[in-house]
Amino acid sequence: MLRDFFIALSENQTLNAAAKRYGLKMGAQHVVAGTTVEETIESIKKLNAMGISATVDNLGEFVFEREEALAAKEQILAVVDAINEHQVDAHISLKPSQLGLDIDYDFALENLREIVDHASKTDIFINIDMESNKHLQPSFDILDELSKDYDNVGTVIQAYFFRAEEDIEKYKNFRLRIVKGAYKEPAEVAYQTKEEIDANYIQLIEYHLMNGKFTSIATHDHNVINHVKQFVKDHNISTDKFEFQMLYGFRTDMQKELANEGYNFCVYVPFGQDWYGYFMRRLAERPQNMNLVVKQVFTK
Ligand code: FAD
Repeated sequence: MLRDFFIALSENQTLNAAAKRYGLKMGAQHVVAGTTVEETIESIKKLNAMGISATVDNLGEFVFEREEALAAKEQILAVVDAINEHQVDAHISLKPSQLGLDIDYDFALENLREIVDHASKTDIFINIDMESNKHLQPSFDILDELSKDYDNVGTVIQAYFFRAEEDIEKYKNFRLRIVKGAYKEPAEVAYQTKEEIDANYIQLIEYHLMNGKFTSIATHDHNVINHVKQFVKDHNISTDKFEFQMLYGFRTDMQKELANEGYNFCVYVPFGQDWYGYFMRRLAERPQNMNLVVKQVFTK
């Protein structure tokens, strides 16, 4: 299956390392905002001008050296400073594995604490992105620890996990992003069919809209978006209780349309040299995105 093929490519560490050396290639520049903080701030300014906010992700995976995790932390702190300096409408998304979760839990926790603490001083929200199953519980543990001291932190619920229903109940007082789930997970822990995942996704969104704090509905699926529009209308849920999110470069017409209709809209803005794994997962989700690659080859 193409999905499995691209997921395998995304996890190939040799290809990940090689891609870092070559800058944005293969069409990745359509879905990655830049390789530097400066380029990324410029992209965010353009989104803000259209009434769209941003959540910024410093790309990076397969971090097994402390130096790499510390460098990622410094880069994220620099993004927080740049958001303040340029007064752009943006917050941060980060991955615990990039900050050392595969090296040592306490080391990752301290790196995240430093970022959340720094961001809390200017009220910048930090979203802990959710990765594959092996990172799931430790990431929730980190959230539990940090939320004892800070309220500018939240996370993601992945609808393909059987445990998502329990998690959303437990974390209903948090700002949550709800997604279908991007990794390949085994049948012991996750729904496998699109129908099951979509049904659970809708159920979780409705639950958090009705019972929870702020909800970020992160999807490119127009059926889900239309369903949510009708649901909030039927239940008189005010637009300041939720936002739609999409990835940078995807369905840009729909992004503008939703923002123009008056919905809060936030774009996930990935940047950095470590773009390869991210790009491959996007191809895995939607092989039609290969168009980006093909176009690039023919328009060089
Ligand atoms: P899909 O199920 O991929 O698509 C449903 C339908 O929508 C398609 O059949 C098609 O008709 C239409 N469609 C989809 N994409 C397009 C397109 N580009 N153009 C035209 N039509 C399209 N996953 C995680 O595991 N952890 C995270 O922390 C995480 N954060 C995310 C943050 C954001 C902002 C977003 C948008 C996604 C995130 N994801 C994350 C990924 C997510 O889990 C899904 O893998 C991904 O969004 C694909 O699912 P979908 O809901 O967009 O719709």
